[in-house]
Amino acid sequence: MKLLNGTATAEEIRKELIEAVRLRKKKGQKIPHLAAILVGNDGGSMTYVGAKVNACNQIGFESTLIQYDSHVSEAVLLSKIKSLNKDKSVDGFIVQLPLPKHIDELKVTLAIDPAKDVDGFHPVNLGKMILNLPGFLPATPAGILELLKRNKINTEGKNCVVLGRSNIVGTPLSILLARNSSPGNCTVTLAHSKTKNLKEICTKADILIAAIGKPDFITSDMVKENAVVIDVGTTRVEDKSKERGWSLRGDVKFDEVSKRCSHITPVPGGVGPMTIASLMINTLKALELREK
Ligand code: NAP
Repeated sequence: MKLLNGTATAEEIRKELIEAVRLRKKKGQKIPHLAAILVGNDGGSMTYVGAKVNACNQIGFESTLIQYDSHVSEAVLLSKIKSLNKDKSVDGFIVQLPLPKHIDELKVTLAIDPAKDVDGFHPVNLGKMILNLPGFLPATPAGILELLKRNKINTEGKNCVVLGRSNIVGTPLSILLARNSSPGNCTVTLAHSKTKNLKEICTKADILIAAIGKPDFITSDMVKENAVVIDVGTTRVEDKSKERGWSLRGDVKFDEVSKRCSHITPVPGGVGPMTIASLMINTLKALELREK
């Protein structure tokens, strides 16, 4: 079994981005600037946004963190988005999801200028993705493609099962892997909570991707021998051995599945760092597209 080390692959990308920033500075060009809006104080969201701002600092991108408490009105948030759309110093921005229940996430996503939508959640970018036109790919699916590519995993003609059909991971990933591109050209099955004979379907997968948020759901009897297994799940589970009292657990029972598969991503250190790397790639791309 070979570990698909997202931390190491993201580090490769980080070095390339540091070099891109160095060259831009040398030519007197603008440095990419990512802004992030965080609403409330959910522990997970704060960690994710913190990691994104940190990544900007390490690469040399500019970053701005805009924080609101959980009672902020939808109108205030939408007005901030409007001003970020117009702000020429900001190349791309994200609104960390989930948002409090009184704010309509779709309205918020639709308010973001697609040219600054570096999370790739706007319907314009999702439409471009389907048509294989240049735009922003959602960060987690793009990160998984990059991980497969840089680790030379052949996807052509393979049976791929994607478990989970969210708008941000499973659905876009299933489309990207089925496209006539590399990585791509897979025969994809998109499975979800209503799928019948899930175990039988999973055991047919040359590439099995789990994105459901159910710790240890994928056991070795659901995995084809020598399959490539990508674990997107990140659920906080109680862990008394850690000072903070929890650790992150994936959707795949790593200990037993790792003995059966050819490649597997760890949690943490697999898909997570690649998601952040993709966001950085998208931010640089947003600036470059604006300059064209
Ligand atoms: P989500 O919105 O939480 O939806 C879960 C999906 O899993 C749904 O499509 C659901 O089916 C399906 N599902 C749930 N239970 C199932 C079961 N027993 N059998 C088959 N399918 C089942 O999905 P998400 O936002 O993509 O998140 C999934 C996981 O990935 C979470 O742990 C999240 O934290 C993690 N994540 C990680 C990253 C990263 O960078 N590492 C990024 C994003 C998300 P239905 O549609 O039928 O309800």
